[in-house]
Amino acid sequence: MDGDNRGLTAQAADVQKPSGAPSVEQGSPRPVRSKARLRDVWPHIRDHRGVLVLIAVVSLIASGLALVQPLILQTLINNVGIDVSITSAVTLLIGVTIGTAFFGAVQSYLLRRTAEGVVLGTRRTLVWHLFHLPIVEFDRRRIGDLISRVGADTTLFRSVITSGLFDIVSSVLMFFGAMALMATIDVALLAITLAAITIGTAAVLGLGMAMRRASRRAQDSVGDMTAAVERVLGAIRSVRAAGATERESERVGEEATKVYRHGVRMAALGAFVQPIMSISIQGTFVIVLGVGGYRVVTGVMEVGDLIAFLLYLFVLVRPLGSAIGAYTTIQTGLAALDRMQEVLALPSETADEEGLNEPARLKRSSGPILAFERVSFAYEDGPPVLDDVSFEVERGSRTAIVGPSGAGKSSILALIERFYDPVSGSIFVDGSDVRTLRRSDLRSRIGYVEQEAPVLAGSLAANLRLAVPDASDEMLRAVLDEVGLSSLTERSGAGLDLQVGDGGVLLSGGQRQRLAWARTFLAGAEILLLDEPTSSVDSRTEAALQNVLRRAGRDRTVLVVAHRLATVADSDKIIVLDAGQVVATGTHQELLERSPLYHELAQHQLFA
Ligand code: ADP
Repeated sequence: MDGDNRGLTAQAADVQKPSGAPSVEQGSPRPVRSKARLRDVWPHIRDHRGVLVLIAVVSLIASGLALVQPLILQTLINNVGIDVSITSAVTLLIGVTIGTAFFGAVQSYLLRRTAEGVVLGTRRTLVWHLFHLPIVEFDRRRIGDLISRVGADTTLFRSVITSGLFDIVSSVLMFFGAMALMATIDVALLAITLAAITIGTAAVLGLGMAMRRASRRAQDSVGDMTAAVERVLGAIRSVRAAGATERESERVGEEATKVYRHGVRMAALGAFVQPIMSISIQGTFVIVLGVGGYRVVTGVMEVGDLIAFLLYLFVLVRPLGSAIGAYTTIQTGLAALDRMQEVLALPSETADEEGLNEPARLKRSSGPILAFERVSFAYEDGPPVLDDVSFEVERGSRTAIVGPSGAGKSSILALIERFYDPVSGSIFVDGSDVRTLRRSDLRSRIGYVEQEAPVLAGSLAANLRLAVPDASDEMLRAVLDEVGLSSLTERSGAGLDLQVGDGGVLLSGGQRQRLAWARTFLAGAEILLLDEPTSSVDSRTEAALQNVLRRAGRDRTVLVVAHRLATVADSDKIIVLDAGQVVATGTHQELLERSPLYHELAQHQLFA
């Protein structure tokens, strides 16, 4: 189907690596079985109902004019030889022909325009929904497959409207119109016609069902292929360095081959549609010609009537052909809608926030600004990550969480941000259980620097303005100065417009980290969560950043996750986490004496 090719082209254009998306191979998404029906199209076209009615009217006029043509011709032919002027009939015929073409063109333009509008609306909805999915969905799903739903599937869906729905509406109209007029000419011939056509149509409908299944598989495999491309492009340096480029492109090639196979299967099924229809149409034509010719010879029928009947046969057959085509297109489009609806059916992250009231959001307490109360947590289907964790973070303090890798330190920060919810226990921010707060309110009070310090493609300024879109250039320069990045803007000459590259590849690891710091500082949140904030900087920069942190922490609460004790030794409180449990809490000195694990960590880092 041509729609399939369009899908692939759009696909290629739309493949982009979303910044900050870790490129690990993830398991297949869980199949969410939803079978899109024709009525599921309605919500997507509802907003366009006005213009759709207009299109229906225009197509009604065009169809009506097309139906009148044979009638005029019939009169014309039956009048030939009789002494009646044919000038007015010829003029009428020309007028009607031009009118049919004109209204046809108007209908086609309006339809395309509306379809583009529908696709635009659908893409916006889909993108909004994608960006609001719970974080756990991104753990489960492959980014590339999600991208392909926004790109390729919406493109295929368009054809439901352009060559689908309306073709069917106007075809049905033409079909019954022609049938009624044929009945006025010769009922017996009409009966023969319908019998022959019904057989062909039944066969094609069966093919349509099979094509829908094949199309769904084809679109799924386009998603797989995009995911495979994204997976490699997301880690292209590592792939090159590992010498795996050939193997990986072969793998993507295999995914592309699957798309090809499904495409070929659709072609095979589609190939039968036309011949089946042709045979039944040609058969009908021959039979009508034979029977009709006999009736003309025996004087039961006039020549003009037979010609008009045959013309109506064409009028009847054309919409039938396009209705059949539309039916198969709709099957393909519905398969695409299936894939879009799978995403739309997922609850957005904020779906549970409906009933939250204002007062709960604004509450301020005098107690600890952050508290974990007997929190246990596991990632979906995974082993326990946190086990009965309780701790408090005092307002304005600097608290550190240390412990071996995999102990669950980053997970604690993810829970505070509410990327996930605990299995049991509660987390309090400023005295409120985080589940009673809107996520947007909660997050606006928290600045979070992720471990990988992800940077978005674009300029320095765009990155800094991520949380504070209206920050002035002066504010940006000041914050860059604070984290020691001002040399970057001065040296480049591009100033704040300096491009950082996809995922920040044009920056060094340390620069990326400092940019992430600057972004968080600029937002001015009262609580700072820093995950391994100095993992990519040298020890001199680390010392400088310590100072920055101390200054920034004067009127803020800072919670730092680190495995390097040097980063956190002077914290007000250090929480030692091991295998998901808090094993000790205290200052550096206290822990050196009290906690064997802390002592061991310190010794390993030549720090005791
Ligand atoms: P730390 O920060 O102490 O190194 P993490 O909190 O990152 O530890 O990880 C704790 C455990 O949770 C690890 O075993 C890790 O494999 C697992 N984990 C981390 N993130 C996810 C995730 N998104 N989905 C499933 N498991 C995860």
